[in-house]
Amino acid sequence: MNTQPLTFTHHKPFASFVVKFFILCCALLTLNGCEQKQPVYQQQLLSLGTLIDITIYGVDDKTAQAGIKDVEQLLERLTRDWHAWRPSKLTEINRKLAAGETVTLDAEGEFLMRKGIEKSQRSDGLFNPAIGKLIGLWGFHSDDWSGNKPPAEAEIQTLLAGNPQMSDLVLEGNQLRSTNPAVELDLGAYAKGYAIDIALDALRKRGIKNAIVNAGGNLRLIGSKGKRPWRIGIRDPRGTGVIASLDAHNDEAVVTSGDYERYFEYQGQRYHHITDPRTGHPARGAIAATVIAADGLTADGASTALFIAGPEHWRETARGLGIEEAMLIDDKGVVHITKALMQRIHFEQETAPRIEVVD
Ligand code: ADP
Ligand code: MG
Repeated sequence: MNTQPLTFTHHKPFASFVVKFFILCCALLTLNGCEQKQPVYQQQLLSLGTLIDITIYGVDDKTAQAGIKDVEQLLERLTRDWHAWRPSKLTEINRKLAAGETVTLDAEGEFLMRKGIEKSQRSDGLFNPAIGKLIGLWGFHSDDWSGNKPPAEAEIQTLLAGNPQMSDLVLEGNQLRSTNPAVELDLGAYAKGYAIDIALDALRKRGIKNAIVNAGGNLRLIGSKGKRPWRIGIRDPRGTGVIASLDAHNDEAVVTSGDYERYFEYQGQRYHHITDPRTGHPARGAIAATVIAADGLTADGASTALFIAGPEHWRETARGLGIEEAMLIDDKGVVHITKALMQRIHFEQETAPRIEVVD
């Protein structure tokens, strides 16, 4: 196998911190055999606050490098535009919405808002990108959350009383306004899914037909690795290995949301970044949720919603979002999985968990 040496592109001062945690934080691993003759190019970038793995097969070195460069630039632009707490297009939109002003969106902004409103409605508000203030209150609007403490319950209740919902937004064409000043947008639950979608588009434009882009557990792929399908590993949420693997179809996304991506511990309790908008606290009951869908944005939005819905309600939330292939690992380690996903997934023997298949 002629694999490019791995290179890290350090964009941020916390790069080394993130790199150190790479093994722990990467939710989906790409399993590459070495039996193919064609070169597999691999590159890691640090962007969107996470490590991005790009794998390309079946083109010459120059094409692969050009594609990777395009993806890098695109991710940098997305980070700049949609950053939730550094001055960005998004923070400017939030400022205007809070002031009761109408915002004129660009095409990407309009697309993201439309999708955000739709996914929120289809998940009964569990997916709620309007709760930016709550995410910030828990200390996740920061590059280093490791020393955080839970906020006071009174502060949480004050924000909940504001009842920020995506349905408070009025989107007419590219004109956006909010009827509720408590709304603060944070696109963290679907931005990476969107990013991998447009990264694959950029690679396609370079004539690349076989590739994987994995942004911290948000994975989209196209094509195959020669005659064999891409094989995708789903990370064990409480280990460094793989809990299950599957052969990918030609063009799809495999996205996992877990309580191990961003969290802090306080007095022996884990507080992670996936917030239940009903309680204002980290969602309880699940430790990971994986969704397979045709595109990254759909899979990313849904994996967050299913995680919040938890072991009791994930299946109906998946139905609402039109998801057929999904699984959720609950806090007792039990795997809840749809029939459709069970048919194509392979659980590793050594870690074989209790599995409950549902229709
Ligand atoms: P990851 O970033 O690890 O892929 P997710 O896709 O599940 O994880 O997104 C979690 C992020 O989404 C949080 O960091 C926060 O920015 C945002 N978020 C948290 N809770 C919600 C929610 N209920 N609805 C929408 N976005 C949320
Ligand atoms: Mg998500």
